[in-house]
Amino acid sequence: MNTLALLGALVLGVLLGLGVGYIRRASRELRQPKDYALQYYKGLSYLFNEQPDGAIDAFIGSLDVNSDTLETHLALGNMLRKRGEVTKAIKIHQNLLARPGLTTRQLHEAQLELARDYVRSGLLDRAEALLLELVKLSSAYQQVALEHLVEIYQDEQEWAKAIDMAAKLDSKHYKPKQAYQLNQLQAHFSCELALLEQKQRSYNKVRNHLLAALKYDPQCVRASLLFAHLEIIQGRYRGALEHLHKVPEQAPDFIIEALDMICECYDKLGEPEALLRYLQSLYDSYPSNSLVLKIAEKLRWVNDDYRAADFIAEQLKERPSIRTLNRLVELYLPHSEGRGRENLQLLKQLVDKVIAEKPSYCCTKCGFSGNTIHWLCPGCKTWGSVRPIRGVAGE
Ligand SMILES: [Zn+2]
Repeated sequence: MNTLALLGALVLGVLLGLGVGYIRRASRELRQPKDYALQYYKGLSYLFNEQPDGAIDAFIGSLDVNSDTLETHLALGNMLRKRGEVTKAIKIHQNLLARPGLTTRQLHEAQLELARDYVRSGLLDRAEALLLELVKLSSAYQQVALEHLVEIYQDEQEWAKAIDMAAKLDSKHYKPKQAYQLNQLQAHFSCELALLEQKQRSYNKVRNHLLAALKYDPQCVRASLLFAHLEIIQGRYRGALEHLHKVPEQAPDFIIEALDMICECYDKLGEPEALLRYLQSLYDSYPSNSLVLKIAEKLRWVNDDYRAADFIAEQLKERPSIRTLNRLVELYLPHSEGRGRENLQLLKQLVDKVIAEKPSYCCTKCGFSGNTIHWLCPGCKTWGSVRPIRGVAGE
């Protein structure tokens, strides 16, 4: 059915092209009526014999490439690409580029479509070459070619090139939200470069990339977390806290990602009371299950299991949570015996199982979920859309 629909569309496209170009080509058709009709009917024959490859060749041969029929050729090629028949789309677009008589702008349009075919078929080197040429030669298609190049370099994890191309994009073409998204994109690319340098222990380069990330997007929570990590590696705990203290305002959902580092810094600085005060103030402004657990841990350290358990039980009334319930059971286990202890162990096993089956992170755009943080969503390729899950079963 799909093949028939495609072939029907091909016929329609050809007929439209024939109709539009009819008057201009009338004299030429009079001179070459037999070849023209022969190709056309050969195409129909392939169509009815369900040989789409032959049909496309015949239609390409029968339909002149000129200003009138260009749109028909492009429409057919694009339709084939969208259907996943990329080899045929490439054939159509290459045919356009090989024909004389098109204007420079029309040739560039065909070149752009061919580059899109190559992207779709995974021939990224070929697409890259065509798009780089468009960036140099075509003012009309420079912007869209740059956008495709950013995507290609992102897929190939060539972050420096991706930043270069993104920097060439003219933000005046974008609405404010899109312009901000472009800045977010460049910030993430800089974070990726920072991670690469971190593997090489080139800490000065890491610092420069993270400074660049925060310049592109001062709200980039990923850059703040990485910066804090860099400072901790180098023993600068006060400096790390400066970055960690920014996280709640940048993105409260990501406080959970900062909590361990916050505790480590205050511990290393020997300031347990300041830590408890800070955690309490965070909980007042941004209540979450993770903060309940962290505060309970500190109360247990300063006091005992019962003080921590009382705090958790109190918070459970306000914020029902599987994870905090589990911690409450853990705290009571060492202090129970006999049948009561057995029942608590059974309850803990069940809750552990429920927690293990629940994902910790979810994409706000496409719903992709998992148990590790992905800064680039594997489902919808959006940066920063995967976030910790909150609520009864979440953090
Ligand atoms: Zn997604």
